[in-house]
Amino acid sequence: MAWNHAPIYKAAISAFLLLGCALPALAQTNRIAPPVPVARQAQSVQPPVAPLAPAPSPPREWTGEDGSSGHPLMKASAIRAAAANFESCVAGLYPLAAKRGVTRASFDKYTKDLTPDLRIMDLVDAQPEFTKAFWDYLDILVNDARVQNGLEMLAKHKATFDKVEKAYGVDRQIITAIWGVESNYGTLGGDRPVLRSTATLACIGRRQAYFRDEFLSALEILHRGDVRPEQLKGSWAGAFGPTQFMPTSFKRFAVDFDGDGRRDVVDSSADMIASTANNLKKDGWVSGSTWGYEVIIPKGFNYLQADRSHQKTMAEWQSLGIKRPGGKSFPRPDDRGYLLVPAGNQGPGFLMLHNFRVLMKYNPAEAYALAIGHLSDRFRGGGAIEQPWPRHEPVLSRDERRELQELLLSKGFDGGTPTGRLGPKARAAVRDYQASIGLVPDGFATATILARLRR
Ligand code: CA
Repeated sequence: MAWNHAPIYKAAISAFLLLGCALPALAQTNRIAPPVPVARQAQSVQPPVAPLAPAPSPPREWTGEDGSSGHPLMKASAIRAAAANFESCVAGLYPLAAKRGVTRASFDKYTKDLTPDLRIMDLVDAQPEFTKAFWDYLDILVNDARVQNGLEMLAKHKATFDKVEKAYGVDRQIITAIWGVESNYGTLGGDRPVLRSTATLACIGRRQAYFRDEFLSALEILHRGDVRPEQLKGSWAGAFGPTQFMPTSFKRFAVDFDGDGRRDVVDSSADMIASTANNLKKDGWVSGSTWGYEVIIPKGFNYLQADRSHQKTMAEWQSLGIKRPGGKSFPRPDDRGYLLVPAGNQGPGFLMLHNFRVLMKYNPAEAYALAIGHLSDRFRGGGAIEQPWPRHEPVLSRDERRELQELLLSKGFDGGTPTGRLGPKARAAVRDYQASIGLVPDGFATATILARLRR
């Protein structure tokens, strides 16, 4: 789980789950999502996930090459030097562990046989080609099987959900949707020992300070006995359990709901469900409200208002001609939200309420957060997203997206550092450019826009 300290890793972790396990055919390792170095990059419209193509099994060994980030700590020579120093680096973390109440005996027990997992260095610095569209992620994450399996989980754990809803005010459908999107109900989670992964990242590579806290938190979990070492396995970035807690998130949010004295978010469904609810509650979940709505945008609408900075009440949006499909009403007209139009005026719009922002703390990629919200609606009997997506639109490659950002910049529209990831800032720059040449300013970066910029 991502939340306040780890949001940039969330999309990477979800992608890992999808790639590594949920859809083995997708497991093309050079497409596995990297954790991204700039905090908000993970909010790009298109979270990094592999294309639908057969692929060989991922290699288990480090390539031995320089990381593609070009960071000095990711040079092969620097990685080798840090790996040679791994044992003493880990040993040197004892004083920090002791401050957290980890005893010498525990520290020695859990660290004495640790070796670095250098394969992670390739994953940290992977430069995936993002070749999937927003709608492709939704198709993968929300499908009939996942809806059906979720309904079975809701029935099976009804008694627990009754108690958790009462205790935390977070509805069962959203918890189940997180469970489904993050790990396909615990069936996919990665098998890397969390302590080894976080120790590797704490001592080697460009994210050491961040992962030192994760490593020390993982040690605390083991020392306290909340989760046993053989259970503490997960993604290469250290997320574990069916709802993918990072160790630091575990520390903040995990609860012992079944009363056995351990906060076991891996094998106790009561602890896992309640801890996930507690996470959302602490992140500001509004009880009784939903995440958002699919909406129809009228012809001639001013798309410059489709931006996070434009918060309006549902009633105000309605007065601008925004409607829900099928003539449905907005049950709470005073709720405020912003308009997200991920595929421009050719695709559906979404009004995003406060709870969508809470989901974005859980998983900072818009497509993933929307998948969680939409899946929760499906559990309530809702149907598929009603308006079509512009599936005919070719998806820009990473190089093309970078070029688009560079061209925008050269024309005076700042869409952020040209990284090839298109987030809200790039969308705003595309909108401004479209407006300047008399096109509908919907912010959707298409091949047509790129061709126009190249002229
Ligand atoms: Ca427990």
